[in-house]
Amino acid sequence: MSFLPRHLGPDAAETAIMLETVGAADLDELVARAVPATIASSEPLGLPAPMSEHEALAALRRVAAKNRVMTQMIGQGYADTVTPPALRRNILENPAWYTSYTPYQPEISQGRLEALLTFQNAVMDLTGLDLANASLLDEATAVAEAVLMMRRANRKATSRRVVVDARTLPQTLAVLRGRCRAVGIELVVADLAEGLPEGELFGVVLTQVGVDGEVVPLAERAEEAHARGALVAVATDLLALTLLRSPGEQGADIAVGSAQRFGVPLFFGGPHAAFLACRKGLERNLPGRLVGVSTDSSGRPAYRLALQTREQHIRREKATSNICTAQALLAVVAGAYAAYHGADGLRAIAERVHGLAARLAAGLAAAGVRVVHDRFFDTVLAEVPGRADAVVAAAAERGINVRRAGADHVSVSVGEPHDERDVDAVLAAFGAAATDDAGGAWDLPAELLRTDSYLTHPVFTLHRSETAMMRWLRSLADKDLALDRTMIPLGSCTMKLNAAAEMEPISWPEFASIHPLAPEDQTLGWRELIAQLESWLTEITGYAAVSVQPNAGSQGELAGLLAIRRYHLSRGDRQRTTVLIPSSAHGTNAASAVLADLKVVVVATAGDGSVDLDDLAAKIGSVGEELAGIMVTYPSTHGVFEEQITAVCEAVHAAGGQVYVDGANLNALMGLARPGRFGGDVSHLNLHKTFCIPHGGGGPGVGPVAVAEHLVPFLPGDPAAPDGGEDSFPVSQARHGSAGVLPISWMYIAMTGAEGLTASSRTAILSANYVSARLADVFPTLYTGPGGFVAHECILDLRALTKASGVTAEDVCKRLVDYGFHAPTLAFPVAGTLMVEPTESENLAELDRFVAAMRAIHAEMTAVADGEVALEDSVLRRAPHTAEVLTADEWDRAYPRSRAAYPLPELRRAKFWPPVGRVENAAGDRNLVCSCPPVEAFAAAG
Ligand SMILES: *Cc1c(COP(=O)(O)O)cnc(C)c1O
Repeated sequence: MSFLPRHLGPDAAETAIMLETVGAADLDELVARAVPATIASSEPLGLPAPMSEHEALAALRRVAAKNRVMTQMIGQGYADTVTPPALRRNILENPAWYTSYTPYQPEISQGRLEALLTFQNAVMDLTGLDLANASLLDEATAVAEAVLMMRRANRKATSRRVVVDARTLPQTLAVLRGRCRAVGIELVVADLAEGLPEGELFGVVLTQVGVDGEVVPLAERAEEAHARGALVAVATDLLALTLLRSPGEQGADIAVGSAQRFGVPLFFGGPHAAFLACRKGLERNLPGRLVGVSTDSSGRPAYRLALQTREQHIRREKATSNICTAQALLAVVAGAYAAYHGADGLRAIAERVHGLAARLAAGLAAAGVRVVHDRFFDTVLAEVPGRADAVVAAAAERGINVRRAGADHVSVSVGEPHDERDVDAVLAAFGAAATDDAGGAWDLPAELLRTDSYLTHPVFTLHRSETAMMRWLRSLADKDLALDRTMIPLGSCTMKLNAAAEMEPISWPEFASIHPLAPEDQTLGWRELIAQLESWLTEITGYAAVSVQPNAGSQGELAGLLAIRRYHLSRGDRQRTTVLIPSSAHGTNAASAVLADLKVVVVATAGDGSVDLDDLAAKIGSVGEELAGIMVTYPSTHGVFEEQITAVCEAVHAAGGQVYVDGANLNALMGLARPGRFGGDVSHLNLHKTFCIPHGGGGPGVGPVAVAEHLVPFLPGDPAAPDGGEDSFPVSQARHGSAGVLPISWMYIAMTGAEGLTASSRTAILSANYVSARLADVFPTLYTGPGGFVAHECILDLRALTKASGVTAEDVCKRLVDYGFHAPTLAFPVAGTLMVEPTESENLAELDRFVAAMRAIHAEMTAVADGEVALEDSVLRRAPHTAEVLTADEWDRAYPRSRAAYPLPELRRAKFWPPVGRVENAAGDRNLVCSCPPVEAFAAAG
């Protein structure tokens, strides 16, 4: 049985109906009329023939079998952990969690917002700081964000110099070197044991648990830094913090790290959630998403994203960072892990891990092997002059990976799954005897240990049995609308099917349990899969090479822009530092340009929504020799195939610039046109949009960067390469970024092949045009391209009716909740509009359900416009309606309850009840609360 009919929503009969509605005889004709001939590619994609689900899974099992699962004791920022089956099944493998979108619409996102708030609360408690975000992409980029945050926040310091502890993880240093070099920050790596180096500095990055395992006190160094006008960031380990004195207590302004060891598999390097916590006063500079507590229209507590995260799309080059998609799903897992174990459970895990490490140290010492540091948490560094390779090999023979730290040292990191037998096997690899010594001599001294309590909120004690945890997770998921309940018609986000067969392999141990620094002969399967996927993406995009390293679209943008900048530098064009960006661009475009140290000049939009060619010519003229390139989204963020894209590319090339084609909208192009062939020099794709990786409530993501031949030397480098090289610019801490989710995209392409990918794009185009046509008489589509068609999404123009009625596009989004729908993209790229992207995976019935809801809402808006009901009293302004409001004994509204709850008859059969009424954003921003509210807050209100 072919997979394609499972992936596509409309069958042949439905397709015929839709074609008739849009006025095309068949899909060939629709595509021929919609896609400009100047870009259309005629050759079919050279991809393997499609396999059935069963065949593809079998083929992938053969690839997976080439990886070797070992006992992973390498450490270096990745700790082996146990994912509780209750969390794996109920979160990681549960579509209610993994198919949800970023919680911009709080009324249908209360479950994941509560879960993310739990994560934030755990991080705040453990780091001893006032606020924490949820979340960042990995530890290395989180440290880079912390450095940029210190530079922004430290207004008193004029210096552009930051000092970083030499014991920092090597991959963090590799990423940090590139990021600092890109924006002209001087990075000084120094041994901070004796004090800070001389000279001016705006910030210091300390490491609480170094790559060598040593645990160091922080307070003295923090005090010294503050006395010299610098801010202090501390890289740390959440599990160690259940025992160690917190960074906050020791004077840190910021704490960062990875939450991976809170139940998230190694995944060959990612996806893992990083965290960043800070003290009060720095919140305005915090990158990433921040969940906070506000109230709803009934005065009940309600969660929502705090101000700066909602503003991401409009702040553009003034944004605090380019982070958009982060690692929400993994943060949910880490937060739930903290809730499942609670303070005492986590402390017990930490004590056991430390105890095993101490036992190892005792056994080594007894055998005369020198243990370099006596204050360690989970990692023991052993001195073995000239014997490191032999010890590593002997450990491998026993099925264990340890870390080679130069020719004379080996370090061993203990994780949650390890036990005494593993310790004895490691000892044997060192030539030491097994031991019964519990390692009491290696107890951590009292001055390093914390005495305060943490995780005291009831959320960390209420869900400790599996029954309680299962029900908590279910109750949270019930509050949310994900793809398992409704289409999510979000323009620019491509919420398509994430098929079960695509998802299954990510949990296989042969993929999930591989350390990213495992020796190459243990990772043959991973590297085969990645090389294949990169070659397929190269074929699909028409470029020369692809790197899957960037772990979000934003990071692909940064990698691509750095490639452009470095290309110009390599040719001596130092002055090419300005990038043109159309006014309609996604917010991350401008923010990424700033991170690549490029100036942004905005190009105007013409009346038809396309790039204004006159303004483009004028801007190219005024920028002159400083032109680095242009960043255009194709199809445009207006959802149209701009015919003049080739003219835009030619104009920029003629002026010596490079063309960056933002490929987040590739779902309209697969098999139809190739950015690498119609003028692009570099693109990023979003595998979490076009290639079926689920959104996970805001991540994981993969944002591969694809480049033409001349930019291949400037692809992101390997963060694990020794010393990284002066010009390597890795953008993720792991060489292959969020490798763990790549099997999803591999499966999609393997099961659909050239024909299926093309069919996906063709059907996506048909669906968008169908919705556009069915709503044209009530909500006209703002922009259309060739033949009067849109690409894969359409912008519904509500502005005329908003003007007549006062009902805003936001009101419509909230009212759609009463109809059981997730809102389309609101106010991007045009204020007052909704952008709808149905994708190829929705069948005709679901498209019609959406159309019916929008048409009914149009009638409700018209009633307000006609003066039948005042705006403030209307069912739209007072939406969404909770069951509590509708069942209250008092009812004084201008419309009957039944019309609020059941505006269409089908809703009586299946109804989503929003858990809260409309959330007050402003109140929450005025009074920022970002930890779990007391349970009484819910009982007392209302
Ligand atoms: C989604 C998107 C991005 C950003 O991708 P992230 O993975 O969220 O960082 C960039 N450009 C466009 C056009 C997008 O739609």
